[in-house]
This record gives sequence, structure tokens and C-alpha cells, in this order.
Amino acid sequence: MTATPLACHPHDHSHCVAAALATADALCASSGARLTALRRRVLELVWRSHQPLGAYDILGVLSAEDGRRAAPPTVYRALDFLLENGLIHRIASLNAFIGCNHPGQSHQGHFFLCRQCSTAIEVQQPAIGAAIAAAAGEVGFAVESQMVEVVGLCSRCRVQP
Ligand SMILES: [Zn+2]
Ligand SMILES: [Zn+2]
Ligand SMILES: [Zn+2]
Repeated sequence: MTATPLACHPHDHSHCVAAALATADALCASSGARLTALRRRVLELVWRSHQPLGAYDILGVLSAEDGRRAAPPTVYRALDFLLENGLIHRIASLNAFIGCNHPGQSHQGHFFLCRQCSTAIEVQQPAIGAAIAAAAGEVGFAVESQMVEVVGLCSRCRVQP
């Protein structure tokens, strides 16, 4: 696995964006999913930072770029496409979207959300999913989605309050 910079630490974020777009291009090319210019641009905007971005923020940027109002349904469809293809996650508690840092690998969205700087850190810890599956099995519950959103302070905000 390549060393991914910790989202909340200073790093050259242009590398994150370039890597995310290159991965999306490759995944869509191999799956046959159509990554149109708009879908790709929306993905790029979601990757603008490691802070989840709302649909209206995306609309605002697109409208400013175009000089005319981007149509909300177009943006929502692009976001749906990106969600369906595992390129982004939806953070329900914030009603916002964040780029997935390991698309193409089947997984659920488990996140640490910093309440101070709004950074979302995707957690790759299979034990979390296993614990949920085990607990669900005990009560005969069929899990359909298991977004886990844990709120707190990231390591950077803890030392620089
Ligand atoms: Zn980054
Ligand atoms: Zn992910
Ligand atoms: Zn923070």
C-alpha cells in the first residue's frame, strides 16, 4: 500500500487530487462506467480538500465557473454516479460528500470526523465491519449499509486548539 498522507496533516494535496482522478479514470475505463467531463469535475471538486463538501457548495463553484447557474439535478446525478461507482462517500451527519481514498476495493464507509477543522479521515479497519456483522448476526439483523461516523478531534487540532 502506498503511504497516504494523514488527511489532517499538512501535505501536498495536489498529489491526492491527481491520484484520485487517475484512479477514477482507470477504474471507469476498466468497468465501462462513463466518467463524463462533468462527473470528473464534480469528483475533482469533492477532492478539493479532505473536508466533506455539500452539493450546494459544488453547485456554487460550478455556477461561478460557468457564469450561469448549474442545474441541481445534473450535479445530484453526477454525485449519484460517483457514489454508485465507489469513488466518493456520503457523510450523512453533514449531508456532504468526501472522496474515497481506496476506491475499487469493496468496503463500507467508516470515518473519523474532526469537529474543529472538519477533516474526514477514512478508516481502513476491517475489524469494525466484522464487529458490526457479528452483532447483527446475534439479533438476526440484515445489514444493508454500515456508515460509521465518529466525531472528535484530529491529532492536529488536539495539539493546536
Ligand atoms: Zn490531500
Ligand atoms: Zn472509501
Ligand atoms: Zn481537526
